[in-house]
Amino acid sequence: MLSGCTPYPEDYARMYRAKGFWQGLTIPEVLERTIRAFPDKIALVEGDTRITYAELGRRIDRLAYAFVRQGLAPLDRVVFQLPNSAGLPIVFLALLKAAVIPVMALPAHRATEIRHFIEHSGATAYFIPDVVRGFDYREMASTLMPACPSLKSVYVMGEPGQGQVDLRRLGELEADPHELATALAARRAASDEVAVMLLSGGTTAIPKMIPRTHDDYAYNFTASAEVCGFHRDTVYLAVLPMAHNFTLACPGILGTFSVGGEVVVATGTAPEAVFPLIEREKATLVSTAVPLVTVWLNSPLAEQYDFSSLKYLMNGGAKLVPELRKRVEERFGCIFIESFGTGEGLLCKTRPDDPEPIRLHSAGQPVSPGDEIRIVDAEDRDVPDGEPGELLARGPYTIRGYYNAPEANKQAFTADGFYRMGDIVRRVDGYLYVEGRKKDLINRGGEKISCEEVENYILACPAVQAVCVVAMPDDTYGEKGCAFVILEPGHSLDLEELTNFLIARSIAKFKLPERLELIEQFPISPAGKILRRELRAKIAAIVAAEKERIPAG
Ligand code: AMP
Repeated sequence: MLSGCTPYPEDYARMYRAKGFWQGLTIPEVLERTIRAFPDKIALVEGDTRITYAELGRRIDRLAYAFVRQGLAPLDRVVFQLPNSAGLPIVFLALLKAAVIPVMALPAHRATEIRHFIEHSGATAYFIPDVVRGFDYREMASTLMPACPSLKSVYVMGEPGQGQVDLRRLGELEADPHELATALAARRAASDEVAVMLLSGGTTAIPKMIPRTHDDYAYNFTASAEVCGFHRDTVYLAVLPMAHNFTLACPGILGTFSVGGEVVVATGTAPEAVFPLIEREKATLVSTAVPLVTVWLNSPLAEQYDFSSLKYLMNGGAKLVPELRKRVEERFGCIFIESFGTGEGLLCKTRPDDPEPIRLHSAGQPVSPGDEIRIVDAEDRDVPDGEPGELLARGPYTIRGYYNAPEANKQAFTADGFYRMGDIVRRVDGYLYVEGRKKDLINRGGEKISCEEVENYILACPAVQAVCVVAMPDDTYGEKGCAFVILEPGHSLDLEELTNFLIARSIAKFKLPERLELIEQFPISPAGKILRRELRAKIAAIVAAEKERIPAG
């Protein structure tokens, strides 16, 4: 296994194989099974482009072979930052077929984060679009190149810059079929090898990397597909970033491919982009997130489109409140599925045939009978059912360690390999109910922001003496970031100045605090630690008082 990763202990690996959770197939092999079964079925749709399974397979193979010829080596890491398009799964699967490991960045990440991903993973290549919404990724790549010695090449989906590789041209290169087959057979990865690295939505100063093996990630999406009733007639509408675990594999694109369904790519998230696609492509399931649900529910456009094909709407990343779950079912005439899970592994879902109170209130139950759940108190003792406690998880698709992070691993995993989710949950009749969380992060409608990471960026601001970033309540996103700042004597700072300072540091925009509160001193515990919960309560009270003064609507 790739050095720096923690393998599953041999006895567990044996058990997961014996129970059939791990099939011994690589992710490309799971797709090849589908290609053989349904070569002429449509696999992928974007706009007027419709790609059959046979064509999908051909494109992936041609590109994988081109990567081999370009010199990408087995187990090379590459930073993957492509926006939604039909090309994204093709490039992704071609990398896996060449045994190259993509590190899944998001389009919103900027130079500071990407540089860390390249350095921490030792990436040899970087995959980008050309320009998206006015931001030129090619320029960002050019500035990173001299700063990152491991980085040898930049691949561009679109018009490449100086010295960068054109992915479209690469995919069109002629190849001798025999040589291609031989080269790709030689690249077949072991199924217990790392296939992909996801990014942790965790709490540390810099995001950690989550190595997922072929065996475990294939099970992640096939088990999810099974509990969501996916089959060959499933039409999955991909709306959220396809490079994120939820849309990629929960069951997402890969889950749809595993059963021969159809993936439709949405390139926007607004009702204007999504509703016509549901009607035109007869989507059966759309997965979405808290902030979008509210917008979709309130859109008058819903009256104008036919949603009769839509069987399920699935929410993930943050909890959707019961009232909105009910409104989803009424407004769109579909069954609501709540998905509670993590890139580190464990996935829980409500089942389509769960009774209404469970669908509306719970976070579901684990997708695999192999998932082991513990709910524990502060001393790691199991609490009785119905009592809140911290959620620990271990199982056939939950990692045993982050990549090259021995210190973080000591904190994040128990000695016997349970992952500490950091969520406070209750378990009733096998279903989980999310009550809160222990970890210090802001869940901005599913996007996770590490308080410590943002505090470090803010501390670099000359006007700032000390800072504490906490979650504040927000009607649309659930939470947003609020920065409590103690100023250096004689300095001033407002939110706009702070925002401009942070944008100049080249970080993802979603991490910017959306409120600044200047404060004389922090509330401190007897042990000298900042009492974050007091600051959270303080800003929650301020927000509530403001809402009362300015009635909504
Ligand atoms: P990530 O690994 O970035 O997907 O974040 C995982 C975390 O997101 C979980 O540990 C939860 O804190 C939160 N989360 C994800 N889905 C839900 C949900 N349906 N309800 C509540 N919290 C959620």
